[in-house]
Amino acid sequence: MTDFKKIISHAKEYGFVFPSSEIYDGLSAVYDYAQNGVALKKNIRDYWWKSMVQLHYNIVGIDASIFMHPTTWKASGHVDAFNDPLIDNKDSKKRYRADVLVEDYCGKIENKIDKEITKAAKRFGAAFNPEEFKTTNPRVLGYQEKINTILKRLGQSLEKEDLADVKALIEELEIACPESGSRNWTDVKQFNLMFGTKLGASAESAMNLYLRPETAQGIFVNFLNVQKTGRMKIPFGIAQTGKAFRNEIVARQFIFRMREFEQMEMQFFIPPGTQKEWYEEWKKTRLSWHLSLGMGEENYRFHDHEKLAHYADAAADIEFKFPFGFKELEGIHSRTDFDLSSHEEFSGKKLQYFDPERNENYVPYVVETSVGLDRMFLAVFSWALREETLEDGSTRTLLKLPAILAPTKIAVLPLVKKDGLPEVAKKLMDDLKWDHAVAYDEKDAVGRRYRRQDALGTPYCITIDHQTLEDQTVTLRDRDTMKQERVALDSISGILNEKLDIKNWLKSI
Ligand code: ATP
Repeated sequence: MTDFKKIISHAKEYGFVFPSSEIYDGLSAVYDYAQNGVALKKNIRDYWWKSMVQLHYNIVGIDASIFMHPTTWKASGHVDAFNDPLIDNKDSKKRYRADVLVEDYCGKIENKIDKEITKAAKRFGAAFNPEEFKTTNPRVLGYQEKINTILKRLGQSLEKEDLADVKALIEELEIACPESGSRNWTDVKQFNLMFGTKLGASAESAMNLYLRPETAQGIFVNFLNVQKTGRMKIPFGIAQTGKAFRNEIVARQFIFRMREFEQMEMQFFIPPGTQKEWYEEWKKTRLSWHLSLGMGEENYRFHDHEKLAHYADAAADIEFKFPFGFKELEGIHSRTDFDLSSHEEFSGKKLQYFDPERNENYVPYVVETSVGLDRMFLAVFSWALREETLEDGSTRTLLKLPAILAPTKIAVLPLVKKDGLPEVAKKLMDDLKWDHAVAYDEKDAVGRRYRRQDALGTPYCITIDHQTLEDQTVTLRDRDTMKQERVALDSISGILNEKLDIKNWLKSI
């Protein structure tokens, strides 16, 4: 996998992601999506929306406001419990999330396991079975046991709010500050992650508000409105994509952890008692959505939570292998009736459903799927970016984006800027633009233009040359295989419509 620094610089150089307000030296953990990034992001969002809303007759979408009545966040538990455990290093004055320090420590042990596996694979050759090795090799088993013990203790201490033990664990593991190298730590404290702001003109009448830290609550407070006006029958879901804000303390790792980010969430309302089945069902469906993009089964894994949030009776993350290791990409949570019951209590309004089959009223249970759009962007982008060595020994930078997500689907390239070739190319571009995002490029030698499109992730290039004028054929070049084939100009639209049909991807979910 490509080096992380290279990923960040490629994202900037090719117009995907810029630091926010860069002329003022940027704002930490805040980023802007550039001309190509915005298209990739929109395509990911559309792929999610189509799979959730368009393909499920019983899931509908909403778009709730970022501002919500402040009592929402009392009811949801965010005012009291949306905290991160923090620890400061007294020498570097750097602040860290205590749980992340411990998890990173375990990440290092995991790297050791990976090294053992790589070594053994070399030793045993073709007969090597990594799964068997992992479950039998004493050294690997020892490492795994160590990770499990550490994470279990961390989970239990956080659960009990025993912050002194979290500090004790950091000290016992001899974790040093990555900046100063010292082990001179403060005590662990809780810190609330919500951004506050004010609504209203005068200081006296202003109301304290929060920028929403998750999109989910906009769905819960609208549950009954949607159910009634949409005449929805349980089980049904409400989907939403939108911005969320968190005052993250450890905001490193580019767009992995931002202070302003976008979530794609779906809350599925179900009868009490059926949550186990639906939870398993949505775990399966969501993993299958990820796999449909073709980024390799080995790059995903489930992580079942030891420590459950205050609202959940089961929770798992879908983790992806980012350049810095396996990390959470999506959360699937069985939220019980916590949210709706709590909103009932705080608002004094009934949020119940009459189930004609059971002939009873109840507060529905909820299974949530929640994926970060920016994290998904990073997963796709970091997986896709690679340096390839070609047969002639030269290298090329390739952004192997799943074709349906690519910002530009087709680049139309006249071989030269004369002899009527640009006119034919522009006419073709005008024909294709109704169905696809098309780019036009006539600068530089065609080989260099191909390389540029490879680095932008454009799956297909069409070259117009002198032969086109004679026999109405063009060259169609495939980004991944670099194969070029001669096809009739009037068949190109049909060929590309088939190759880029989102249906073919959605059907594999
Ligand atoms: P983490 O443990 O990484 O802080 P979380 O468990 O708090 O994440 P959730 O509250 O479950 O995250 O949010 C659902 C999804 O939203 C996450 O899986 C992630 O993809 C995304 N997400 C959460 N926080 C951020 C952030 N600061 N920046 C970008 N994406 C985020």
